[in-house]
Amino acid sequence: MDRIFYNGVIKTVDEAQPLVSAVCVQNGIVMRTGSDEEMLKYKTENTELIDLGGKFMMPGFIDSHMHMLATYATSLELDLGGCKSKKEVLQLLSDEADRIRREGKDGEWVHACNFNQDYWSDDKTVPSRLELDEACGDVPCYMQRCCGHTASHNTKALEIMGLMGERAETTTHNMKFFPDGTPQGQLFEGDAELILDFAEVPSVEELVHWIEEETARCAALGLVGIHSDDLNMVAPGRDLENVMAAFKIAGETNRMSVKVYEQCRVEEADELREFVRKYPKGTAYGTRFVTNSIKEMGDGSLGAHSAVLRGSYANDPEAKGIRIHDDAEMFELFRIAHGAGYPVVVHCIGDGTVDQVLNGFELVQNENPLPDIRNGIVHCQIMGTDQLYRMQRNNVLAYVQPVFCRADAGIVDDCVGPELAKQSYNWRLFCDLGVHQSGGSDCPVEPCDPIPNIYYAVTRDNGKGGSWYPENAVTIEEAIRMFTIEGAYAGYAEATRGSITPGKYADFVVLSQDLTKIDPKDILKTKVLMTVLEGETVFEA
Ligand SMILES: [Zn+2]
Repeated sequence: MDRIFYNGVIKTVDEAQPLVSAVCVQNGIVMRTGSDEEMLKYKTENTELIDLGGKFMMPGFIDSHMHMLATYATSLELDLGGCKSKKEVLQLLSDEADRIRREGKDGEWVHACNFNQDYWSDDKTVPSRLELDEACGDVPCYMQRCCGHTASHNTKALEIMGLMGERAETTTHNMKFFPDGTPQGQLFEGDAELILDFAEVPSVEELVHWIEEETARCAALGLVGIHSDDLNMVAPGRDLENVMAAFKIAGETNRMSVKVYEQCRVEEADELREFVRKYPKGTAYGTRFVTNSIKEMGDGSLGAHSAVLRGSYANDPEAKGIRIHDDAEMFELFRIAHGAGYPVVVHCIGDGTVDQVLNGFELVQNENPLPDIRNGIVHCQIMGTDQLYRMQRNNVLAYVQPVFCRADAGIVDDCVGPELAKQSYNWRLFCDLGVHQSGGSDCPVEPCDPIPNIYYAVTRDNGKGGSWYPENAVTIEEAIRMFTIEGAYAGYAEATRGSITPGKYADFVVLSQDLTKIDPKDILKTKVLMTVLEGETVFEA
């Protein structure tokens, strides 16, 4: 044996042998699991013995939806995530503009991200162009909301983007105007990312470095796998080939510390046809990168009232939400992916979009039945109970982000009313129906730390000392499955990953406490001590 992990409390997530104290690993694969006495018999002179000291070990975590490269890019920006007031936000922007002027960095932007006005104590309105002018002057300034669905810009930025001449009556852009008809500074949905048209495309070398750094950060959080949505994210329409080339190098030269199941974002039909021809389903670079699914956008966000609802917004009857594709366009994308054997995973926040997407999934499967297609809905936020049953019938996977509960608990009831709010985010019913439900963070929207996600899945903590529809919570055992074996299932990898089972890859995480034994309120205190990927220690505290 190469390595024997022993003297542990090892939860395997394998019903055949759920709890053991030792695991034998050879060539990156779990060979046997059992008691210390049994396993230590396989020790040879070359075996490395790892004494777990009674600690808790389980399969490494899998995050089923995040944006690894956007997370790295975001880490280079000014982070407004911790701001508690609008005043603080404007001060940080002003300091950043001062720095740029002081350093004489002509052409550099104040590029800020992650703001959430719901957390501001003084004034919950998004700063307008004029407020940003006051803070940043003629240094171009851009600030993006944490959800990515809206952003605000100062005058200089709008000039560079060629938008200062837009007028309310004639514009084709999704933007806000002052009563005098001039741009107010705030842009929405696709237009919130117009700035990216002016972003430089990172080189392949830079991207390899980003992948190396970001996967190492993931490993430090106990992750062994991530489903990551990266194509057309950093410089939409221009970055795909560089990103794929970078994954090829990083994967084949073993520079990745987690396995990446790529959710390939290709939103235009011709580009998608070309993509699936060039990169067939399951294109792998080494053992740690695979093209797993096609990612599409369905609608916007609840906070920005751009999610498409069946009914209307309780607190904003005028809002209609924003459909990203009409039926014809969306179903064409589904057909192309489906014809190439790729499942499609679609960002859906509103129940109106969920209907559209489920119609599309049924349509392509009826036209061309495939035996094991695992289409999915990413987020599954506002949903009617009937839709959960429909997902069950069609084996549509649920990709949920339990940590969203913290921010959303405060807004969902206002947006859709208590009756629909209670049917939404119903992780309990997904489990009861046997729908494959995996957990993720949507990082950089929330940090890709599985521990808080597991905490919110179990407690439904509403951030105000209470619990938000606690009857919709899952058990700790179910939460662990969401972040292990279900993440593997979403990656068509349940036969090789996601549990500590002889024959599977040795992907483990060692934690400071036994998640199954502690009071749920103490879950957040859990520390990651060690992460093992394919038998190799990729992180040690
Ligand atoms: Zn996302």
